[in-house]
Amino acid sequence: MSWSVSDKELLEKFPAPAFRPYQKELLLKINECLNTGVRLVVYEAPTGLGKSYINATFCRAARTAFYTTPQITLINQIKKDPLIGNDFAHIMGRRNYICAHDPAATVEEGVCVRFPNFPCVKEVECPYWRAKVIAYNHPRVLTTFHYFIFEGISESAYFLGRRHLAVIDEAHNIDRHLVDAFSLLVSPFTVSFNIWLKWKYRLRRVASKDELKGVIAEMMEDIRFRIEEMKEEAKNEPLSRKEAKTLKQLENFTSLAEQFLNSPEGQEWIWEWTRPREAPEPWLVVMPVYARFLSEIYMWPRAELFIISSATILSHEIFLSEIGADLNFKEDEIAFIRVKRSPFPPENRPIIDFTVGKMTKKERERYIEDAARAVEYIITQLERGRNVAIHCHSYELAEMLYNALSDDVKRSNLVLTHTPSTRQEVLDMWLGKRGATFICVAFEEGQDWKGEKCEAQILLKVPFPDLRDPRVSARLKKCDWNWYYYKALLGVIQAYGRAVRTPEDKARFYVIDKSFETLLSRAYRWMPEWFIEALPEHWRKKVLEMREKARKKGIKIV
Ligand code: SF4
Repeated sequence: MSWSVSDKELLEKFPAPAFRPYQKELLLKINECLNTGVRLVVYEAPTGLGKSYINATFCRAARTAFYTTPQITLINQIKKDPLIGNDFAHIMGRRNYICAHDPAATVEEGVCVRFPNFPCVKEVECPYWRAKVIAYNHPRVLTTFHYFIFEGISESAYFLGRRHLAVIDEAHNIDRHLVDAFSLLVSPFTVSFNIWLKWKYRLRRVASKDELKGVIAEMMEDIRFRIEEMKEEAKNEPLSRKEAKTLKQLENFTSLAEQFLNSPEGQEWIWEWTRPREAPEPWLVVMPVYARFLSEIYMWPRAELFIISSATILSHEIFLSEIGADLNFKEDEIAFIRVKRSPFPPENRPIIDFTVGKMTKKERERYIEDAARAVEYIITQLERGRNVAIHCHSYELAEMLYNALSDDVKRSNLVLTHTPSTRQEVLDMWLGKRGATFICVAFEEGQDWKGEKCEAQILLKVPFPDLRDPRVSARLKKCDWNWYYYKALLGVIQAYGRAVRTPEDKARFYVIDKSFETLLSRAYRWMPEWFIEALPEHWRKKVLEMREKARKKGIKIV
């Protein structure tokens, strides 16, 4: 059996002096599953339960383990945690380390890339390779989900290998991370200007996937030739930093393109021409539609056993199907566990109905003024002097709201908004203030806005998947509406969880978008009980009635 750990042994590995509510029961339940032949445990537990300590306990009990997550903030929290931070060797991608021989270059474009014969003893001198050697020899490795997936593809030296256990924490969107990570951008920056110029016209005429594969395969010959040429040139004359960067980009492109060219027959890919801001012409993006085939090749081979955790698995059936669990595990090798109760009382985290109208593209013009008045009332009357976050879901809507707010309110309440390039800067500014309002986009995940950092949130727009995204339209053409509403609910519950992080935190969650009611009626089956209990009475009643009716009809309710 690949797991044989007694409960006593396991509990001795728990890092904290005492258990939080539900922690011990959950540890024992997961252990029971693993001891009886389950190879994939997926568990859902609300914020505040202390998932990191549960996951770290299993990493300690395994022979070798990965602890991985898509969220950098969680990695930083674990590293800083005095009870588990020292348990792991930590490793990230090369671009996060500075070359020991050139403080202006990352390891990705370090001196050895520019001078191939440069005498550097990498295991001793290079910060990246030193970290890699430590990780290689360490039984427990903490790393990003991206590195976990790509390490084996991009380099073979000191390969961290297949481990006994892989924990993937905050895993609710790993399917999206996988399809994003394997998307291929064909642009003057990724394939170099001359190659782009030569191939863009043929690429534009492509009409089928096979034709696209053919053209990219031909283009790859030019790219490989250019890579070899640059490496030869570097032997005579060192490359500049810019050239080293180009070389790295060409190598990265090659490795991604190979995944596309070698993808199995049944794997669906889609492509679109998209014009980024300030680009003079559209670029090509080639994307896998589903993650399930990618996990089969790149994720499951990394460990014998998996523990996958999040506060928002919601529908384990949809989740397991999206990540292709059925392609790697037999039915009796998979277990799903849900902790139904939140350690945070619902009265500390109420959801409040402030709906004014739908914020869909069609209807927002009509309702944006009403939405702005509602926001003004919340920030100046109900939440005066407190930090408030407004989730907008798109920059376009964020701008509309900002423009619709009165100048007086903007001045007196310090209303902050950001662009894609000022996200972190404006977030830090807001977190450092009190009584400020943060109009934000795509901050539903990975934020720890506890205490006074954020005492109220406003949901201006339900984060439905973007219909302009070709992957979304490809799925909806097949009537995959369950997935569509499932993802929207996941986004809402993730946003909801940002501001109440401890039993003492209190934060209200105001809903302005009327489409929230559509979501309730489409996604009621997957709502966790700790979310339902925070809904206002009229919505809670409606959800409970729908669940009861569905149950009577034999429909499965989670
Ligand atoms: S291996 Fe040496 S030369 Fe190369 S990036 Fe690392 S420190 Fe710099």
